[in-house]
Amino acid sequence: MQQYYLIGSPISHSLSPAMHNLAFSILGIDARYGLCETDLSALSGTVERLKSENVSGWNVTMPDKQAMCDLCDILSPAARVSHSVNTVKNVEGTLYGYTTDGDGFIRAAKENGFQIESEDITLLGTGGAAVSILIACAFNKAAEIHIFYNRTSSADRIRTVIERLHTAIESDCEPKITLEPLSDEPVLRKRICNTGLLINATNVGMAGSGKESESLLPDLSWLSPDTDVFEAIYNPGKTVLLRQAEEAGCRYVNGLPMLLYQGAESFRIWTGSEMPVGRIQKEVFDHF
Ligand code: NAP
Repeated sequence: MQQYYLIGSPISHSLSPAMHNLAFSILGIDARYGLCETDLSALSGTVERLKSENVSGWNVTMPDKQAMCDLCDILSPAARVSHSVNTVKNVEGTLYGYTTDGDGFIRAAKENGFQIESEDITLLGTGGAAVSILIACAFNKAAEIHIFYNRTSSADRIRTVIERLHTAIESDCEPKITLEPLSDEPVLRKRICNTGLLINATNVGMAGSGKESESLLPDLSWLSPDTDVFEAIYNPGKTVLLRQAEEAGCRYVNGLPMLLYQGAESFRIWTGSEMPVGRIQKEVFDHF
């Protein structure tokens, strides 16, 4: 039997075991997916143990995604640019590292008819989700990506990612990327009013953040029906931003399909098979 794990901490709330174990069972794959609670100080020891036990692969979540990058032998282009790994495939002791959040974002966006190629995109946030989305948009030929940061220290972090993007993408395919503070309301408003796709990858609106009843947009007038709105948050299913989008007549989607499809991409990397996402959505996500 093949064995897979989720490693990170805390992980007990994760939907990944239900998602992958159901997919293995539907497709008749002899494999199990379990949890392996691992904080940063224990990561390299855990990885050595998983290798010695010939574990086929694992997902990685906070706080281990960056450190996992340094423990892999070969990285995908997106993992290299983001310096973050959420999926590892172990091939006879050689560790291949990937990051699949960006793939999940692209599939969710396209499925909802959102355009990425040649699009003018506004991205709110500079954390892990924002970095994955930035790289995916750049690799998928967005024309312009306007990023807004909260704290100055976070802007410095994402500048490094933008520099790595410059070397990873041929100059004639490179999007125009700007980085501005969320606190500059006139600039933020101008960008959002002119954007084709607005993405919220901050915690503002997320359950448990203390900001669940807030949106970074003070009012509806910033949105036109021509603006598509992608919310990375999946809990709650309809954030204040998505309620604003609905009222303004925009197309919108929450973070659940991104979550589902990043898992489906890990599954494809490990097994070579397509995850039966319709059944997984119905039996795992609809109860979430
Ligand atoms: P993260 O790395 O901690 O980043 C959080 C981001 O939110 C940072 O840019 C942070 O800015 C910003 N932020 C926090 N408080 C803020 C505030 N009061 N005002 C403005 N910005 C604020 O977390 P993450 O992993 O990127 O996750 C971000 C969101 O995406 C979460 O809601 C998470 O659930 C969601 N997510 C969804 C998926 C999916 O598959 N759908 C995957 C990953 C994450 P500073 O650091 O500068 O304060």
